[in-house]
Amino acid sequence: MTGIRQTRIVARPILDRCHADRDDAEANRARWKNPEARLLLVDPHDEVVMVDGRLAAVPTAGERDDQRDLFVGVVEGVPWFARRTEQSRPEACSLRTVDLGPTDRELVMSALAALAWHESNPACPRCGKPTRITSGGPARICPHGHRVFPRTDPAIIAAVLDAQDRIVLARQHSWPADRRSVVAGFVEAGEPAEHALVREVAEETTLTITSARYVGSQSWPFPRSLMFGYVARAAGTINVGHDELAEADFFSRDEVSDQVESGQLQLPPTLSIARALIDAWLARRLPEPESGFDLSSPLR
Ligand SMILES: [Zn+2]
Repeated sequence: MTGIRQTRIVARPILDRCHADRDDAEANRARWKNPEARLLLVDPHDEVVMVDGRLAAVPTAGERDDQRDLFVGVVEGVPWFARRTEQSRPEACSLRTVDLGPTDRELVMSALAALAWHESNPACPRCGKPTRITSGGPARICPHGHRVFPRTDPAIIAAVLDAQDRIVLARQHSWPADRRSVVAGFVEAGEPAEHALVREVAEETTLTITSARYVGSQSWPFPRSLMFGYVARAAGTINVGHDELAEADFFSRDEVSDQVESGQLQLPPTLSIARALIDAWLARRLPEPESGFDLSSPLR
């Protein structure tokens, strides 16, 4: 598997979100004044500057603007803040494609999700009045005291396997000809995630999911998704006869490895759960779908 980098879903949080006092102005002032404190600058296009493979944050300086400098959390005693900048920086790279270690990944996902949510929620959903950021940044509040908390959009993503353990890799219309990923889609209002899995796979490929096992989740803050990752077994043949996908096919492990090696196939960025699922499948480290839910008969 030369050329394929192993990724993994991190199960234990590294970032301490400081629930007890993250809205305490004094505590946040002390964090901002901490000489070790870091400020992550995020460009308008979700880009950050990297140095030697790590996030290049700047020291905090001057007085904190609590409507601009969000408190993200503490990592190993170091407080982290995030700020959206108005200017792009030529040396910055896209967060969708950078290769980040677990700590930086968690910092970036949390910072970006919070920034995106604040920017898209200027008004209170209950009374329509303008909202402002609470001191730390985990919520917004309107003049009537209504507190608004961050929302995420649930989505399913699945390593869909056939009886020979081949994986479905699909290409969306907007992607380059060599790019493929696993099947994914949003959970609809009132829909359990497992129903969304069965429905999305059927809609996109006409395959029938017979069994599935939950693997793990990942925040994907572009702008505010939470991906629920599954491994699933499917019956039937692939038929991409509509608007959702350009193409979809079953791939064996050798086919994926060989085509990645030769440059014919481009897998999702290492930051994504899509890539983690594909890498885990390649390494034969996904659980058996049959060890989870039996979806061969309709769910009630
Ligand atoms: Zn309100």
